[in-house]
Amino acid sequence: MSTLRFHAIKESLAYKAILVEEKERRSDLFGKNVFNENTMRQYLTKDAFVGVANAIQFGKKIDRNIAGQVASSMKDWALSKGVTHYTHWFQPLTGSTAEKHDAFFETIGHGMAIEKFGGSQLVQQEPDASSFPHGGIRNTFEARGYTAWDPTSPAFIYETTLCIPTIFVAYTGEALDYKTPLLRALHAVDDAATAVCKYFDKNVKKVTSSLGWEQEYFLVDKMLAASRPDITLTGRTLLGHSSAKGQQLDDHYFGSIPNRALNFMRDLETECMLLGIPVKTRHNEVAPNQFELAPIYEEANLAVDHNSLLMDIMGRVASRHNFKVLLHEKPFAGVNGSGKHNNWSLSTDTGVNLLSPGKTPMSNLQFLTFFINTIKAVHTHEALLRAAIASASNDHRLGANEAPPAIISVFIGEQLTKVLEELEGVTKGKLSPQEKTELKLNVVGKIPDVLLDNTDRNRTSPFAFTGNKFEFRAVGSTANCGNPMAVLNTIVAKQLKDFKVEVDALIGKKDLKKDEAVFNVLREYIKSTKSILFEGNGYGEAWEKEAKKRGLSNNKTTPEALKARISKESIALFEEMNVMSKIETEARYEIEIEAYIMHIQIESRVLGDIARNHIVPTAVKYQNILIENVKGLKEIFEEKYNSVSKEQINLIEEISNHIEGINANVTKMIGARKKANNIEDIEKKAHAYCNNVKSLFDDIRYHCDKLELLVDDEIWPLTKYRELLFTR
Ligand code: ADP
Ligand code: MG
Repeated sequence: MSTLRFHAIKESLAYKAILVEEKERRSDLFGKNVFNENTMRQYLTKDAFVGVANAIQFGKKIDRNIAGQVASSMKDWALSKGVTHYTHWFQPLTGSTAEKHDAFFETIGHGMAIEKFGGSQLVQQEPDASSFPHGGIRNTFEARGYTAWDPTSPAFIYETTLCIPTIFVAYTGEALDYKTPLLRALHAVDDAATAVCKYFDKNVKKVTSSLGWEQEYFLVDKMLAASRPDITLTGRTLLGHSSAKGQQLDDHYFGSIPNRALNFMRDLETECMLLGIPVKTRHNEVAPNQFELAPIYEEANLAVDHNSLLMDIMGRVASRHNFKVLLHEKPFAGVNGSGKHNNWSLSTDTGVNLLSPGKTPMSNLQFLTFFINTIKAVHTHEALLRAAIASASNDHRLGANEAPPAIISVFIGEQLTKVLEELEGVTKGKLSPQEKTELKLNVVGKIPDVLLDNTDRNRTSPFAFTGNKFEFRAVGSTANCGNPMAVLNTIVAKQLKDFKVEVDALIGKKDLKKDEAVFNVLREYIKSTKSILFEGNGYGEAWEKEAKKRGLSNNKTTPEALKARISKESIALFEEMNVMSKIETEARYEIEIEAYIMHIQIESRVLGDIARNHIVPTAVKYQNILIENVKGLKEIFEEKYNSVSKEQINLIEEISNHIEGINANVTKMIGARKKANNIEDIEKKAHAYCNNVKSLFDDIRYHCDKLELLVDDEIWPLTKYRELLFTR
């Protein structure tokens, strides 16, 4: 074993796990560091409390005076907890969170100082936007951007800083973050869904979108991770032969959680409790050293903030336990990658989950309305939904050898398929009394029972109905959920809006009763959206063929997938729903495509360096040893030499071929990169990176991995898969 590897492994084994004791009940810790409703009641005046509550509930503006009172109370609360700084906390399009800390401390002359935090500092700040991705929105002479307080997501304390969740927009008002379009989309879906709810219950005033994410991740010892330049710089391994033992024994999934990982989890969960992130579930995932963490679902905007915050603190807590967290979608070839299922539902302020079948025929008609409209929305916008989860790293899952496929389809289960089939038979126009009874009792009325055994879930589906929610499974583990959630809520909002227009027209023109009209429109939707429903195995080639016949898109790479973001239809959709202007949509496209180029560029450089600077010299060294050996054999055995050294000579040749394979392909890759870099048009550049640069990764890796099996372990420079995945 090489010295570097040896020391990394030694350190890793010598590490003594920190034992994390939990002295307080989690329910007591929960939300302690959050300026939540409970804390606000304690610290705010009645006026201020009502002002914030109205902003949260009904999106009402908070006036300056109230903002001043809130700021002052927030400061008092924060100071009482030993906080020294505050920051606007936002989610720029880099994919991570951003913060710039300012101290409360102010001097007031005469050698005196106070702690100060006013309404204006709470409400708005002006960070320099020029260093964040802006996709050409911000021209160079106007570098300012604004962050503005989002009162719907409570301020929290992390370490010694008061963090205020904010949106981040350009000086000219365009969104430069994930939160702004999400908030607009949530508003759109609230409006559209509330209007549709009125068919069934006049008392509904607000519909909230919920999200429950499930975060998958890998834990690797910090020293071992640091010994690999590819993990350090790209968050994944770019090469490495698979370990003799991988996940084939299925001995990790739901197994007992290794001690050190468990201590990390407890520590992380304690942090989450303090920050009001309601984490509930933890378990081992399929691959060795792969785990999952899931909270209780929350209002979507808050859930997105919580997931972003979680991804940040995971890294910090891991470091305390000498771990590196890998959030990448595919850190290791040959074992499972990581995703982030987005469980999504809509619920009313009257306490009804609109995607949960009810107890009466009427509540079930409401359920079917939202259920079928969601299917219809996905059917119409499947390519856009795929675009919403496109990234260089998620390409390793979607459309590669991993679940789910790049084709978006919807799984609803056998029982609901039957219900839809029966509904398809609804007569056009007015229903006879007999048909009404039949529908209500036998079709719609039956749903609650039949759903109970909808547990047979198809794990290969990218978008599955699981009893009382849809589960968008194609989201990547590194993703900011704000992006897919903004798109999903927007397409559902648009669909519900169109639905209402159609139903109203039938009620008005054809003189149908309300539920007859609803049935009639739903029937047509069922007929026209069949191509998006798929219950079979999503992995196989058979599905790819079938999907093609059905006209579903199958965009395997990010440059292809992203195009749907800027199609005429998508631009019009976002404009109509007031989620993004044309400029914002186009800017986002540009940012995402540039991010793709940069990711592939970095990976390509790192791979080239490792192959040339680590692998080839090592292989040459070993080859020289073999050559010396063969020369020696020749000296000793003389004429018998040919038969004795045949295998050694073959080995030397084999090594030569792999070295040649690496050198030739790396040279080719560097050439392709140079060519790609000279392309002005970013879309063409992305395609060049995808088709001419990235396409060589596998060949280079193949030769490197073969050499790993041939070259003396003593001098192999890179920590091996077995060491990364199984050292405990
Ligand atoms: P799994 O998909 O692993 O079987 P569960 O179905 O238990 O897990 O739930 C996964 C996530 O879905 C959790 O975060 C949970 O809170 C969330 N969830 C449950 N019900 C809903 C709902 N109605 N809306 C949104 N998320 C939900
Ligand atoms: Mg799930």
